[in-house]
Amino acid sequence: MKTRVRFAPSPTGPLHIGGLRTALFNYLYTKKGKGTFILRVEDTDQNRYVADSEEYIQEALEWCGMVPDEGPKNGGAFGPYRQSERKAIYKDHIEQLIQKGGAYYAFDSNEVLTEARTKAEKEGQTFKYGAHNRMAFKNSLSLNEEETIKALNDNYVIRLKVNSGETVTVHDEIRGTVRVETAELDDKILMKGDGMPTYHFANVVDDYLMKISCVIRGEEWLPSLPLHKLIYSAFGWDTPKFMHLPLILKPSGKGKLSKRDGDKDGYPVFPLSWGKDTPGFREMGFLPQAMINYLALLGWNDGTENELFTLRELESKFSVDGVQKGGARFDYEKAKWVNHQKITQTDTQELLEFKSVKENLMDHPTEKHALLVDLVKERLYTMNDLKSELTFIHSPFPYDEKVLEKLKGKDPIRILSKIKEELERSPRLSKEDLMAWAKENGVPVGALMQSFRLALVGKLTGPDLFQICNLLGKDLSLMRINNLIEFINLKLT
Ligand code: GLU
Repeated sequence: MKTRVRFAPSPTGPLHIGGLRTALFNYLYTKKGKGTFILRVEDTDQNRYVADSEEYIQEALEWCGMVPDEGPKNGGAFGPYRQSERKAIYKDHIEQLIQKGGAYYAFDSNEVLTEARTKAEKEGQTFKYGAHNRMAFKNSLSLNEEETIKALNDNYVIRLKVNSGETVTVHDEIRGTVRVETAELDDKILMKGDGMPTYHFANVVDDYLMKISCVIRGEEWLPSLPLHKLIYSAFGWDTPKFMHLPLILKPSGKGKLSKRDGDKDGYPVFPLSWGKDTPGFREMGFLPQAMINYLALLGWNDGTENELFTLRELESKFSVDGVQKGGARFDYEKAKWVNHQKITQTDTQELLEFKSVKENLMDHPTEKHALLVDLVKERLYTMNDLKSELTFIHSPFPYDEKVLEKLKGKDPIRILSKIKEELERSPRLSKEDLMAWAKENGVPVGALMQSFRLALVGKLTGPDLFQICNLLGKDLSLMRINNLIEFINLKLT
């Protein structure tokens, strides 16, 4: 059987990184088996439909380099790939199922169902419409043919007929075998009153018709698996393989990672921005290769301690054995660390192509961009750090008061005058010469470097000082040294 997998998001808003992780694991699964990666848009729930969401999903996949082989944008032999465009297919299949006796029409009003539900709840039970009580309701099993034909003029739904007293057994590649008694299941609605299929029905029909060989999705769908198996069986179809991926958990405490967690602690949970106020990883200065690498670590490892992978490496290393059962905890600091590693490993010219890099370098002349990135690259955790790392280029002010305090009594003026003298002599300042001078004259190296850094940068952090000095050039460096001398003369004396 050919490897064919699908990523099947519902366009109900931006794609959560949990969804993107599902897409990634699907994508990686196909790459090893030289299979097909399909994007299927599950848009049958019109109430939850959000415009722009499909485009967002497509863009997020493309940003990460996971271009679907088949999907709404680029088509394919198994389309259409939007469920809203497949209504005729579902209609045809639900009719087949009714013919086979696997499904039936149900005509019960909302009032009747609500009453039955309330009664069950009063008795401390969960209401289930199924084998034990379906004959007491109004449906094509309890009515005769004539009554049924008449009732079909009104509103109705179509339900799956779940037989009692059977055990449903399904295998999940990660979780193992799942067994459920049919008595625990109800006659789920497959087709709604508006003629739209429910998620469960459309999902199974499409997975079958699109020849999906392995269904890879989030763990939240595991409870639906027995129901899906029953739908496959009702049609007489073989099931594909199933793989339910571990949840992505909040950084601490219980529960799934949510947008609210991100809003509260200032980190993104979406790959791209959604509206003006919700930046995504991309806008927060992440490289797509870091996004992918970090997502891969959320629930998978290659059996070693290695945590850094390129997409190509992931494609060849990914295997089901490496997927963990337990939830994967989201860790923004770790994501930033991965991003930092990727930034330092990426060629500067390549970095300059990224939109976030261009935006953060906008205040600097284009011909200096490569030099500037080279200067601070090792210090960046996100590309947005570029801005703060480079503020000293424009000005070293205000001077860090604490550093001024530290320099008291260490004769910074003498040090700065010496640096000035050296710089005037040769624009390429020699670190060795300065050190030698400090040693000979009993000047602590710390005080030398701190005075110099304060003059050029205004604080003690930043990239290599001698590189900064070269970048600023002789005149600007001299001016900054003079400024600090003047400032100290005014302030410390
Ligand atoms: N439309 C479902 C979702 O958005 C897909 C679940 C599945 O992959 O079967 O989660």
